Amino acid sequence: MIIGVLALQGDTREHLHAVAACDAIGRPVRRPEELDSVDALIIPGGESTTMSKLAVEFGMMEPVRKRIAGGMPVYGSCAGMIMLASSLLDARPDQVPFGGIDMTVRRNAFGRQVDSFEGSVDISDIEGGPFSAVFIRAPWVESVGDDVRVLGRVKDGPAAGRIVAVRQQHLLATAFHPELTGDLRVHRYFVEMAREAGQTTEG
Ligand code: GLN
Repeated sequence: MIIGVLALQGDTREHLHAVAACDAIGRPVRRPEELDSVDALIIPGGESTTMSKLAVEFGMMEPVRKRIAGGMPVYGSCAGMIMLASSLLDARPDQVPFGGIDMTVRRNAFGRQVDSFEGSVDISDIEGGPFSAVFIRAPWVESVGDDVRVLGRVKDGPAAGRIVAVRQQHLLATAFHPELTGDLRVHRYFVEMAREAGQTTEG
């Protein structure tokens, strides 16, 4: 089981550390050949405009889309969530996501006064109490299609109730950064998703 971490831009290293801490093998992925050798992919936090530009430049747009359509498990955090959205609000006109999850995501949704904050989020599939979720110029999910499960919402404060974690079959996204807090539960959950997908294809 090899978990790739997209390494075009963003906090790739932190995700690779989190993957290793979950006893899985992580590998940075920058080029289509590198994508071919992984079983699952994490799209890190960073800056989604730059990431989508680099994805085009590195010839990664279509290969990633193909793997998504083929059932490869993908987890996107923050900018990674934006990259997995089927539709964007407040995006640059030339910004193109990979897509995959039937949802509308609003970039920089939390506004200036809370550019960066820590909030409490319960994730319905994950036990062990609420996450101390770190949001950095984070998006939120404005709306989801019928096939998307909402896994988590902001618990309190001005943004209470906003959707910040979703899953659609083999695709997972969070608006926050579990790779920055040392709480490995989201990564463990994703590694488990990847193992289950591996078993289904091998069986
Ligand atoms: N605001 C960034 C974007 O639009 C996302 C921020 C992040 O990943 N921490 O891409």
